[in-house]
Amino acid sequence: MRLSRFYLPLLKETPSEAQIASHRLMLRAGMIRQQGAGIYAWLPLGFLVLKKIEQIVREEQDRAGAVEMLMPTIQPADLWRESGRYDAYGKEMLRITDRSDREMLFGPTNEEMITEIFRAGVRSYKDLPKMLYHIQWKFRDEIRPRFGVMRGREFLMKDTYSFDIDEAEARRSYNKMFVAYLRTFARMGLKSIPMRADTGPIGGDLSHEFIVLAETGESAVFCDERLIDMEVPDKETDFDGDLQPVFDQFTSLYAATDEMHNNEDFEKRVPSENRMSARGIEIGHIFYFGTKYSLPMKASVAGADGKDSPVHMGSYGVGVSRLLGAIIEAFHDDDGCKWPMSVAPFHVGVINLKSGDDACDKACATLYDALREAGVDVLYDDTGGRAGEKFARMDLIGLPYQVVVGPRGLKSGNVEIKRRSDGEREEVSVDSAVHFIAERVSDALKVE
Ligand code: ATP
Ligand code: MG
Repeated sequence: MRLSRFYLPLLKETPSEAQIASHRLMLRAGMIRQQGAGIYAWLPLGFLVLKKIEQIVREEQDRAGAVEMLMPTIQPADLWRESGRYDAYGKEMLRITDRSDREMLFGPTNEEMITEIFRAGVRSYKDLPKMLYHIQWKFRDEIRPRFGVMRGREFLMKDTYSFDIDEAEARRSYNKMFVAYLRTFARMGLKSIPMRADTGPIGGDLSHEFIVLAETGESAVFCDERLIDMEVPDKETDFDGDLQPVFDQFTSLYAATDEMHNNEDFEKRVPSENRMSARGIEIGHIFYFGTKYSLPMKASVAGADGKDSPVHMGSYGVGVSRLLGAIIEAFHDDDGCKWPMSVAPFHVGVINLKSGDDACDKACATLYDALREAGVDVLYDDTGGRAGEKFARMDLIGLPYQVVVGPRGLKSGNVEIKRRSDGEREEVSVDSAVHFIAERVSDALKVE
């Protein structure tokens, strides 16, 4: 992409309403633009990251055996009357009436709808287990939308639903999602910690929140710090095999959110030097809730004995749009974002220090084409303007590598390559720059 064609409306001033770094940086770097409280338009740069995050989430869901579909954002109220949640959900639900005065709502979640879809198509235990998911916009009329996309009112969520014959089988599905989540967040460079959590209005009795530690996080959490660097299962993991040992390993050490925290237990189980009380951002939440929806909504299957019984269900959410904020909180400095390669809007920025100069223009155009040819996502700053301005802009948007092309370097056939994560610079020949970048990009994108 040539910067001259792109749409990158940077803010000069630090927006005063933004209280945390990720919100400030997303506004300043022209990634989002607010359209109402907790409602954002995704500008091209932000949208590129959103799509990369979504794609990682999708790949790991698919790997775990979940099947993608798409449900609508608007739902009929009657579905929610069947489960009894229409009144219980309260003011967070955006209620709408259509032209015939039918009651509708903008979905805050999809347990009811997926249960309706499931019961229409599945009759026998032989069709189980099933895991279905979609990645769709949700609306929750939050009391305090804040921190930008972290707590929006309209936000993008991946939600999966599992259907099993009994509790033991449902736990196998739960474990698949548990492992899929560890892998999903690790691929984004995040160290997520599964913590015992309250089940809230979704209901049920087994639940974990996946938390990334961050000072600006909204949740107070307590954990054994040895969880932070625990090894995540690799891509050869057999999702049809027994994942209970992984679950046991991660849950053997203490980790709980505020609502589930028990200090006595904490002090008994965790050696004092490993005790952490910190703040965190909830990026995912998984639940097993048994027959809470299948019973009132009559989603039953015939067992081997021919008798009908309600299916055992779970639901599993990832805050896809919230993840942008969480990733920036984890990877930034005063100058801007420092995207991990896997979610970076572009892998590399090519900076032409003297646009209009024949040698610079030519070298940049050659690099730009060759990098793209090599499968690298490139943003080419082909605009006029001062060098300082160009450097600052590239640092702000935080692409993992910058290739700086200027008349001085070109005299000796060189360009400078800067790594954004630690600022390390290296002079390389124009001829080797493509290989240098392409190799590092493909290494960083390797899925383990
Ligand atoms: P929270 O406790 O933060 O309000 P929740 O428990 O209501 O979240 P879930 O229903 O478990 O959220 O939704 C699944 C995921 O969706 C959450 O883990 C979070 O990452 C994301 N999410 C929930 N609410 C919001 C929101 N208002 N803005 C952005 N992401 C959200
Ligand atoms: Mg939650």
